[in-house]
Amino acid sequence: MQQPARALCLLFAACAATPPAVLEPAAVELSGTVAYEAHLARPHATRDLTATVHVFRDGGRARVELREAAAGQANPELTTYMRDGDGACWVRSASSKQFRREGAATERFLRVLLDAAADASHGEHRVAFQHARLGDVADEAHWVAGSTGPELHVRWHRTADQVEFVLRRTATTPAFDAATAFALGEVDATPPAATRAPAPARFRTLAPGVHEITLPTADSRSLAIEFQDHVVLCETSLDNPSGEQLLAALDERLPGKPVRHVLFGHYHPHYTGGLRPVMARGAVVVAPPLGAAFATEIAARPFRSPPDALAASGRQVVVETFRGERTFRDDSNELVAIDIGAHSHHTDEYVVFWLPRQQILFEGDLGWFAGPNGLRGGGERARGLLQAIDERQLPVATLVQSWPTVGMATLPMAEFRALLAK
Ligand SMILES: [Zn+2]
Repeated sequence: MQQPARALCLLFAACAATPPAVLEPAAVELSGTVAYEAHLARPHATRDLTATVHVFRDGGRARVELREAAAGQANPELTTYMRDGDGACWVRSASSKQFRREGAATERFLRVLLDAAADASHGEHRVAFQHARLGDVADEAHWVAGSTGPELHVRWHRTADQVEFVLRRTATTPAFDAATAFALGEVDATPPAATRAPAPARFRTLAPGVHEITLPTADSRSLAIEFQDHVVLCETSLDNPSGEQLLAALDERLPGKPVRHVLFGHYHPHYTGGLRPVMARGAVVVAPPLGAAFATEIAARPFRSPPDALAASGRQVVVETFRGERTFRDDSNELVAIDIGAHSHHTDEYVVFWLPRQQILFEGDLGWFAGPNGLRGGGERARGLLQAIDERQLPVATLVQSWPTVGMATLPMAEFRALLAK
C-alpha cells in the first residue's frame, strides 16, 4: 500500500524548483555502467560501456566528467558537462576542445543527476516532459538497494537515443579545484538546435513520380513516390514535428494525393521518428516483421499531455508485414521495397526502395559520406549494398541516400562502383 505515498513523493520531486538542502560533499565519484539504446542492430538492443562519473559542484555551478569505455578499451573517452552560474549547460565531447551550448535535454540530465548525487536521503528525482519522438516520459535518477549497496539508476531521453546508467558511490573523493574547475574557456555559443525554429522543408522532383523532401534541421531526406491517386512515403525523419513538416510539404506540392502507405528503411530514429503524424492521416505502415512490431510500439507511445495528432485522432493504426519484397504498382508508377537484411551490416532488417521505371534506388545510410577531401564510401555497409544490388541484378542508374543530407544526395551508380573500387 505504499503506492500513493510514492506517487506523492514523485509529484513533489517533479515540482520542486529548489535543489535539496543537502549539497555536500562537493566532489563525488560514481562508477558502474551506461547503456545506449536506439542505433543498434535491432530495437531495444543496447551498447553497454563501463562508466566513471565525477560530480563537482560549487553552489549552482557544476561539472560532471563522464569517462566511458567498451570492454577491452584501454583509454576511456571523456565527456565533460558543465552548468554555469547562470544555469546554462555546456558539453565538451572527447573529440572537441571547446564547450558547446546544450539545451533542455542536458539541463534535465544534470538536474536529476546532481540532485540525486547530493541527496543523502536517497530520494527520487525526476523531470517529466513530452519527448518529440517518444512521448510522455521522465528523465529520472533514483537510488535502489543493489546487491552490494545503494545503486543510482539514471534514465535520460536524448533527442536521438536513450541512455541508462547504473552507478555506485565509490570510496574515492576526486580532487578538484573550484577556482579552475568551472572555467569554460573559449566556447561555441551557437544556440542548441532544439531551441531554433526548424529550417523549411526542401521539395524537389528527382524524376517523374519521384519527389524528395529534405529536412535540413533533422538532417534527413524522405522520398514521396507518386501514384495515380495517392502517395507512398519512404522514410519519415526524426520526430513528430519532422513528420508534420513532411506532410505539410506533401499537402502543398501534391494536393489531393493522400499518403496511403508509409515505409521506413530501418528502425533508427531518423527514419521512424516521424511516423505518428503520418499514421494519424490513416496511412498503412508496411514493414518486415521486426519493423512492423516496432511500428506497433510507436503507435502505442504515450502522447497524452498534450495529445499529438495520432492520439487526438483515436485511430487504430494498420500495420502490414512483408518478408523479402513488397511491390506497389499502378499504371503510373512502381515501387519495390526490398529487405536486404544482413547485407546492410547495420541492422537485422534493412529495406531499400527500388524504382524500376526511373532506375533509382533509395537507401537510408549505407552508401557514402561527403568528407573534406571529397566522397568517401561507407565501408562494409556500402559493399553490402552493392552486393545486394548485384545479386538481384537490379539495373540501378542512380542511388539516392537519406542521410547525411549535407553533400551529395544522389550518385550515379557508376560513380558509386568507382568509389568502392578505390
Ligand atoms: Zn542507421
